Parts: sequence; C-alpha cells; structure tokens
Amino acid sequence: MAKDPVCNMNVDEKTAKHVSEINGNKVYLCSSGCKQQFEQNLSKYGY
Ligand SMILES: [Zn+2]
Repeated sequence: MAKDPVCNMNVDEKTAKHVSEINGNKVYLCSSGCKQQFEQNLSKYGY
C-alpha cells in the first residue's frame, strides 16, 4: 500500500488510477482532486 500524501489515505499501487511521477518517484493519489492538489503544492509535500 502507498499513502496519498494529501489526505493520508492508503492507495493500492496495483489499482491506483491517479499516479504522479516526480523526479522518478511515483506518488499515488486517491483521486484526481488529490492529484491536482498535490501537483500544485509539491513543496508542501516535500517535493
Ligand atoms: Zn486523497
């Protein structure tokens, strides 16, 4: 299980539909809303 850094929900890497790749790191998000939130606030999440 990966963790959505935005809402701290567990995300299954195998079925995740919302994946963001930052500097070679795959970050799994639970929804398009969280993905957008993540990508617009990368520094907030340590990227
Ligand atoms: Zn989320």
